[in-house]
Amino acid sequence: MGQDNCIFCKIANGEIPARTLYEDEQFRVILDQGPATKGHALILPKAHYRDLFELPEELAGDVMKLAKKMIIKMREKFKCEGFNLVQNNGDLAGQTVFHFHLHLIPRYGADGQKIGWKPQEVTPEELEEVRAQFAD
Ligand code: 5GP
Ligand code: ZN
Repeated sequence: MGQDNCIFCKIANGEIPARTLYEDEQFRVILDQGPATKGHALILPKAHYRDLFELPEELAGDVMKLAKKMIIKMREKFKCEGFNLVQNNGDLAGQTVFHFHLHLIPRYGADGQKIGWKPQEVTPEELEEVRAQFAD
């Protein structure tokens, strides 16, 4: 279940302490130690999966159900106005801990954060090429 030298395995299974907002048999939800905003939390499965590619489909569904439960309660408690859910896969995508986790990032007015991307210009032909590549 746990993988040697995986910090999130140790945290999720209680071997290393972390500020826990929620725990059940499958998951632990902790506060991120380098929060984007107040209340930034991480959903960690207790079992080790590297990323969303490895995460079993059923557990992936359970992650989103838990995310919904958590953000409802967090909005009530932290009085935030919005949420970003972020989930990085692969170092190129910004993943730094290779144990699946979903970021729950509360958003407040003027919190000074910008979570997103720079939109690129694209032609209708280029979009069609992408669609066709996927459909191939
Ligand atoms: P990633 O970039 O992999 O999507 O996100 C990793 C996140 O885990 C970062 O936001 C980082 O602050 C957080 N993090 C890394 N190590 C620890 C730790 O030991 N404890 C806690 N609470 N958060 C951690
Ligand atoms: Zn792990």
